[in-house]
Amino acid sequence: MANYSGKKYYIKTFGCQMNVYDSGRMASLLEAMGLAKASEPAAADVIIFNTCHIREKAAEKVFSDLGRAYLIKQERAEKGKDTIIGVTGCVVQAEDEEILKRAPYVDFALGPLRYFRLREVVQEIFDKREAKLLDTDFSAESKFDRLPENKAEGGCSYLAIQEGCNNFCTYCVVPYTRGIEMSRPVEDVLKEARRLAETGSVELNLLGQNVNSYHGEDASGRERNLAYLLNKVAEIDGIKRIRYTTSYPADVDDELIRCHKELDKLMPYLHLPIQSGSDAVLKKMNRRHTRDDYLRIVEKLKEANPDIGMSSDFIVGFPGETDDDFQQTIDVVNRVKYIQAFSFKYSRRPGTPAAVMDGQIEEKVKKERLQVLQDLLFSYQTQFNKNSIGKTMQVLFEGRGRHRGQLAGRTPYMQNLHAKADISLLNKIVDVRITDASTNSLSGEVV
Ligand code: SF4
Repeated sequence: MANYSGKKYYIKTFGCQMNVYDSGRMASLLEAMGLAKASEPAAADVIIFNTCHIREKAAEKVFSDLGRAYLIKQERAEKGKDTIIGVTGCVVQAEDEEILKRAPYVDFALGPLRYFRLREVVQEIFDKREAKLLDTDFSAESKFDRLPENKAEGGCSYLAIQEGCNNFCTYCVVPYTRGIEMSRPVEDVLKEARRLAETGSVELNLLGQNVNSYHGEDASGRERNLAYLLNKVAEIDGIKRIRYTTSYPADVDDELIRCHKELDKLMPYLHLPIQSGSDAVLKKMNRRHTRDDYLRIVEKLKEANPDIGMSSDFIVGFPGETDDDFQQTIDVVNRVKYIQAFSFKYSRRPGTPAAVMDGQIEEKVKKERLQVLQDLLFSYQTQFNKNSIGKTMQVLFEGRGRHRGQLAGRTPYMQNLHAKADISLLNKIVDVRITDASTNSLSGEVV
């Protein structure tokens, strides 16, 4: 393999934690070729946009980013420097050939299941400038088998254990862009987890689009669930905190709930999207759970660990959502008292069943409902954060704070926290006494 030391790469990541994980793996592939990270696109020989298709007009935004990259490519060409522009992720899967048609200056486009080819593709383009490549194959071969070993970049690492989804919620593009569900074998996950621990991670966040449907095979070929995997990961020395995301309510089983009681390393925080509190809307969304199913799961989780904090995703203004449906969502929020949440107005995703459903809701109504919901969610979040004042929490410092001499980190409840702290505490878990709180962050003092 040729060495390209002296050359640089720049990756811009959009969207979910899975994309953050994928970008990290792409960076490792490029670094193995000798490339170094550039601080800005203009300094990079390889510019990659790792894209997300979840938001409205996602493709348009990518094309305008690509336009800016093209200007950089031209400016660099005037100075005699070549620039490779690549696009990866879900927009590639959704747009397919359209990418190279609309942006012919793009050198390669790889779907989310194909970026393991990055090394070979970049080398080919470096060596024969005219090479162009589009690969959106959905084949069963696992990209994970083709990637080099992952290593920690800090105290907290993401670890993909599952990819794709078979649920086909009517508003979601994931099953079309990430394909059907696949789970990595138990041993592969544990090997990566051990390596991340050895290279400095103390916290692992196990990732999957539908992470709790995990069903990877163990060494004997037996299928194992997420609860089994969590127990195994918890046995790894050096790993002190474990999280998993994103979960699907209908796949939360009693074994998984028991983990929240028995595994000290499992953080007392769970992101469990309900999307709507109305059974009629959930049905139209093709969710496999009712509002009562969801509330029962939350109750069981709170019985297993009374300190657990819940988080969720909400979509307001889904086609056909009435005022009464919306009130049922408000009622769920008042019952669960989420400590954090993500809420959005419904927006059409081309190619999904909900995009062509009758009863699309007026923008004005969606906006009003979102405001009401967010005011309520923020009030619970603020209340939870304020109740943290005076408590001592274990904080994992993950980076520098906004002000000199500060570090920023996260509590077990995923609250952002900043505190005056010596740089030697970076990537360590430290006791911090909470001194102040707002809706979005806490301040504290190292004790
Ligand atoms: S479970 Fe999640 S990823 Fe799967 S279709 Fe529904 S919203 Fe999309």
